[in-house]
Amino acid sequence: MMEHPDPPFTGACLCGAVQVTLTAAPLLTLACHCRGCQKLTASAFSLTTMFPRDAFSCTGAVIKGGLGTGGRAHYFCKSCLNFVYSQIEGAPQRINLRTTVLDDAASFDPFVEVMTDEKIPWANVPAVHSFAKYPESYEALQTLMDAYAAR
Ligand SMILES: [Zn+2]
Ligand SMILES: [Zn+2]
Repeated sequence: MMEHPDPPFTGACLCGAVQVTLTAAPLLTLACHCRGCQKLTASAFSLTTMFPRDAFSCTGAVIKGGLGTGGRAHYFCKSCLNFVYSQIEGAPQRINLRTTVLDDAASFDPFVEVMTDEKIPWANVPAVHSFAKYPESYEALQTLMDAYAAR
């Protein structure tokens, strides 16, 4: 049984210039296997811990990276270029923090994996829910968040 630590949570980029604080419990944890995430993270998949936007604070200079398309803004530390978080245009009330920024990243194992259509075959994660693409609606996402909260 995984421990579920209580907020607040803290984290930092590789060089420490960007510091984050989260004052609420996470809404959902995800791994994304899409090709874009593989390239953005220079890894086999991205890890996201989703928080309410108003529970998120960030100090230090960040710059936008990635393609800047698809209504997704990806923010990186200006000094070390560590990928820190993303803001989705259609979801201004939520923030997608890169899980590995968190000091206690091991406690935020991915509950959901998405875009398994593009998954590298050996890149397995212990997600409880898998999607070939993305959850199809806001209701489907809300159901996942409810299940995550109840775990
Ligand atoms: Zn940095
Ligand atoms: Zn992705």
